[in-house]
Amino acid sequence: MTADRLPVADRWFRVTQIDDGLSVVTEPHVHGFLRANIWHLRGSRRDLVVDAGLGMFPLRQGVPRLFERDPALVVTHAHLDHLGGAHEFDTCHAHPAEAVHTPAPGTLRGERLANTLGLDTAYAEEFPDLLVDAAPVRGFDPDSYVLRPPTSYLPVEDGDVIDLGDRTLTVLHLPGHSPGSIALFDPDQGALFSGDVVYDLREGETLLDAINGANVPDYVDSLTRLADLPVTVVYPGHGRPFDRRRLLELIDAYVDSRTGSPQGR
Ligand SMILES: [Zn+2]
Repeated sequence: MTADRLPVADRWFRVTQIDDGLSVVTEPHVHGFLRANIWHLRGSRRDLVVDAGLGMFPLRQGVPRLFERDPALVVTHAHLDHLGGAHEFDTCHAHPAEAVHTPAPGTLRGERLANTLGLDTAYAEEFPDLLVDAAPVRGFDPDSYVLRPPTSYLPVEDGDVIDLGDRTLTVLHLPGHSPGSIALFDPDQGALFSGDVVYDLREGETLLDAINGANVPDYVDSLTRLADLPVTVVYPGHGRPFDRRRLLELIDAYVDSRTGSPQGR
């Protein structure tokens, strides 16, 4: 689709309430590969947003209630579909091994994205020329899209605890998809906000480890570590939440495919 034929979306973001304390924001007009989840957690003392979408349209304008109580932001890693809106937040947490200030350049063109991320050509062949099917505003030029780094940055390390008042989240450094990929674990609810460390897959798909900055042995170690955590529900960086049974299936399938035995057994 050429840019000048793009329809203008009625609303850029879709908000889905999961429960009283959790909602998710997505960008439905973005190609599935780049359509990431923006999680909003309501705490008794503080709110937290996990990941910030592509940054094609201002979150503050599109979903003002995300910002009602000046939330902290955690970006699970510095890929464009998670980091794009980070510059709108006063506080952005990320792992120091992640290049949040010098991320790979952003683009909405399929072939260029495959090149900048170092994806293999099989991906590039599946991508449409343009990775959005609508414009957020009239006159939007997809080629003007840039990935802006966050304006403020606070490093978080493995084991750090983010306290929201009535719930706490522990930072897990889980490299593999990227060097500084992190997930957040709520031990009371057994909830894992996993970023791109693990997300549900369709038949024949695999977790994304053939990309610049990825490391297969690290990925195997990170997933093996996750299998031992008392996770009951996963809120991933892409797609729907899933349960522990599915988490262990995904972990076993990945570890088996890369080492020849599920979880090294
Ligand atoms: Zn990613």
